[in-house]
Amino acid sequence: MKTAAEYLESMKNLNPRIFLGGREVKLLENPTTLTVVRANARVYELSTDPRYREIMTALSPYTGERVSRCLHIAQSVRDLEMRAEMALLTSQVLGTCNYRCVGADVLNALAGVTWEMDRELGTDYHRRFTSYLRYLQENDLAVSGAVTDPKGERTKRPAQQDDPDVYVHVVEKNADGIVVRGAKVSQSGAIGCHETVVIPTMAMRPGEEDFAVAFAVPNGAPGITYICQYTPFTAERELIPDVKYLGNPLYGQRETCIMVFENVFVPWERVFLCGETQYTGRLIARFAKTHRMNCGGACKVGFADLMIGAAQLAAEYAGVSKAPHIVEKITEMIRIRETCYACTIAAAYKGKEEPAGSGFYQPDDIFGNVAKLAAADGFWDLMKWAADIGGGMVVTAPSELELENPQTSNYVRKFMRATAPAEPRLRIAKFLQNWCAGLHGAGTWHGAGSPQAQKLTLYALTDLESKKKMARELAGIEE
Ligand SMILES: Cc1cc2nc3c(=O)[nH]c(=O)nc-3n(C[C@H](O)[C@H](O)[C@H](O)COP(=O)(O)OP(=O)(O)OC[C@H]3O[C@@H](n4cnc5c(N)ncnc54)[C@H](O)[C@@H]3O)c2cc1C
Repeated sequence: MKTAAEYLESMKNLNPRIFLGGREVKLLENPTTLTVVRANARVYELSTDPRYREIMTALSPYTGERVSRCLHIAQSVRDLEMRAEMALLTSQVLGTCNYRCVGADVLNALAGVTWEMDRELGTDYHRRFTSYLRYLQENDLAVSGAVTDPKGERTKRPAQQDDPDVYVHVVEKNADGIVVRGAKVSQSGAIGCHETVVIPTMAMRPGEEDFAVAFAVPNGAPGITYICQYTPFTAERELIPDVKYLGNPLYGQRETCIMVFENVFVPWERVFLCGETQYTGRLIARFAKTHRMNCGGACKVGFADLMIGAAQLAAEYAGVSKAPHIVEKITEMIRIRETCYACTIAAAYKGKEEPAGSGFYQPDDIFGNVAKLAAADGFWDLMKWAADIGGGMVVTAPSELELENPQTSNYVRKFMRATAPAEPRLRIAKFLQNWCAGLHGAGTWHGAGSPQAQKLTLYALTDLESKKKMARELAGIEE
């Protein structure tokens, strides 16, 4: 497996075409793109740390060696549980994405669907997939997952759009491979991963064969352009020389980009589905249930830990930690955290082999969706209580740079101190700003799919007939 140093070295060989804030930037030179690389390096570090061996690595049936869990296809309920624990751990350590999370869940969805296609259609997809997977595992590569298309006018199908490029699609097939066009949006950390695996954003229908395509591309392949998000946090990072003043100093916010595919050639060995519309529904459904357990649920449990810890520190620094209403609010935050965690673990424990006979495991759909919904709703409450406890200074505090300014330092030290001195109070206020007045609210709401998608799934999966029958029987109502 790669060490963090080896991962950093390998990034020097990439040359992705990246734009940020209206200009072209270099991955290893820009302060914001560097946060992605740093976060990935930290995940490599965790994976080679013996303390986290069980969570961060797994025994691969393909190589016979231990591999990163980010590249492992779940073979048991225990694997599902450890996958969720990995999401939790990396969130606690990074306070941002494990940028290999979507990729891990896309690989797991593709394993089962390519297995089925080869059995049912006599295709070669699963062989290609496993040989690609072995390549990833043997080289311990970081893989991002590209699912979300720009989608244009939401009520129109892909082929009805004025511009078909708003969904990734095949524009040419030849003896060597396919050529694809389009884009994927909100791509977490794709710039700092070695590879990206692409799947359709939704179930495609007959007539939409060109949009039914799954494949893998190396970072920076010809025709790929990455256009990064730009936020006040990006601007601040560009301006402030010392990262320690930036809330989440090393790893920053969750960085995403639009990934443009302009006539990108993909050799057949890297194509895992092409035209089989009837398999796209289960591909996206399997991705969604796995990702909702991990990104939707477990990841946010780790974020909740950070918010609870920071709120408790802010209360102690201000001398209010024993006030009954503060204790109650911290308790409420803990309740939300544990509810999300319980749903996540239930999704893993209720997981099962899918497809039957494949040896691959998928989490329970209902609990995975509920984990994501509990986190999406609960996160606003976590933000509310953390902001309440942190006080107005979460958004009104001056920069910690004032402490180094001889003209203002004494004032700030004098007026910003409480039970604790100004410095830790300012630092934790800035940390809380990152959570309560940053990108994480909307990010948690939409990441792993907007909640309406989970509600539709939940309603569709629930057996209302059996519930009606129970109620009728007990109430004594004849059919
Ligand atoms: C922080 C973050 C990280 C992400 N990382 C990744 C990543 O790494 N890879 C990846 O592939 N994706 C990623 N995503 C994308 C994420 O999956 C999408 O944001 C999510 O699926 C919602 O899609 P959208 O953003 O296009 O929202 P929209 O589709 O614009 O949704 C906006 C609203 O419109 C509603 N809506 C949409 N379509 C319809 C319709 N047809 N009928 C009725 N209502 C509709 C939605 O329910 C929602 O209320 C990330 C998102 C975030 C916020």
